Amino acid sequence: MLQIMMMKNTVNTKICITCKEVKSLDEFHKSKTSKDGRVSNCKLCAIVRSRKWREDNLDRARAYDIWRFKNQNGRKESLVKTRNQHYQNNKADYKAKAKEWAADNRAKSNAMKQRCSGARKIATPSWADYDKIKQIYLLAAITREVTGCDVHVDHIIPLNNKVVCGLHVSANLRIIPAEQNFSKGNRFSPYADND
Ligand SMILES: [Zn+2]
Repeated sequence: MLQIMMMKNTVNTKICITCKEVKSLDEFHKSKTSKDGRVSNCKLCAIVRSRKWREDNLDRARAYDIWRFKNQNGRKESLVKTRNQHYQNNKADYKAKAKEWAADNRAKSNAMKQRCSGARKIATPSWADYDKIKQIYLLAAITREVTGCDVHVDHIIPLNNKVVCGLHVSANLRIIPAEQNFSKGNRFSPYADND
């Protein structure tokens, strides 16, 4: 028994080829190609090495950053698309579940509703033309009725965004297909074409 434990103990440690320290296997990143399933540099040495590589290859590192950023963004877009499609296909289920959740979590649901309407109240300046705002909502309702398409009134610049806070005024409102509004969320990029 003792022997097994000792054997196990020797298997659970490894010498880092860079700092030559004996460390537990957890301190090495996993590797599918090595025999013991771990890379030969400990995590600390790996950090030092990657930092040094970055300094020595700044151009390549930056190019990689840009590539990674674009790639992840692409993935996010397609994820949102799939999710939206799923929502469109199971709208009734989603709505029923949301209703059920709201019934079970009345206080939370009310707080959420209030937060939304609160944001709208704060974002409505005293000079806002209420008639114009109403007209846009009315137009959206008519569009829905006439075309049968689900449309939303969208804030071009979101009211609740980390970078910018739009206003609840007619100039910041537009009518867009509901699907588009759903995928946009409260994201806003000052560099993207927001039309
Ligand atoms: Zn090391």
